[in-house]
Amino acid sequence: MKFVIGVDCEGPACVVGAPGGSLNDSRNLDFARLQATREADACARGLFDAGATRVIVWDNHGGSLNLHYDLLDERCEIALGGGFEHRWPGLEQGFAGVAFVGYHPMDNTVDGVICHSFSSAAFQWIKINGKEAGELAIDAAVAGEFGVPPVFVSTDDKGVAEAQAFFPGIETVTTKIGLGWNGAVSKSPKRAIKEIYEGAKRAAQRAKEMKPFRFGSPITITMRYKRIEAAQAASRNKTGWTRIDPYTVEKTVERVSDHW
Ligand SMILES: [Zn+2]
Repeated sequence: MKFVIGVDCEGPACVVGAPGGSLNDSRNLDFARLQATREADACARGLFDAGATRVIVWDNHGGSLNLHYDLLDERCEIALGGGFEHRWPGLEQGFAGVAFVGYHPMDNTVDGVICHSFSSAAFQWIKINGKEAGELAIDAAVAGEFGVPPVFVSTDDKGVAEAQAFFPGIETVTTKIGLGWNGAVSKSPKRAIKEIYEGAKRAAQRAKEMKPFRFGSPITITMRYKRIEAAQAASRNKTGWTRIDPYTVEKTVERVSDHW
């Protein structure tokens, strides 16, 4: 029973953004990296204690060099750095599931803490086949190409609602109540860790009943940029994007991993 845990840094307990900036501009970036590590560790311990034989922790916040690797359970393997062939490095067919720790709500979410989709500077929203989607759904769809289901998500309350909408019945833990880009009422970091451990354990026990997530094929990706120049550049660099309005470009591909 093998798993990969994707670990982002915006969604852990007691993490918020900076006014006018991102997590990387926030005064609690250092705490975010530490708490993301603790939450990833709790998730891994829960999976192992429920019978996992292999857990890869994928450090995936910008630059993929964020976690305190020496604080992770020694049974974990760690995917760090970049240039991988696909998202979820190490994932293969036959894995029991992927887990999401420290993820955040998608772009265009009211009061989602540091809500964005891949870039908080670039996009107003991303749609797949006409429906808004963010990193939770898109990363789950990449795992779905391997036939591997999403089994666990921990993030703020808006991210949990998003996860439940895309993956009904998935195990979730709410780390904080989002009250804005830079505001939350958070659970205690220690309590979040305990709940993530228990939630991951339940997720491993239930992994067999979870279904892989897929958008279908082909898929149409629509991206609305925040800046008109970015849409202009995307449509003129010969990568197949069509400009459908001043701020928006669109492209149809076979699989979500053709773009991500
Ligand atoms: Zn991030």
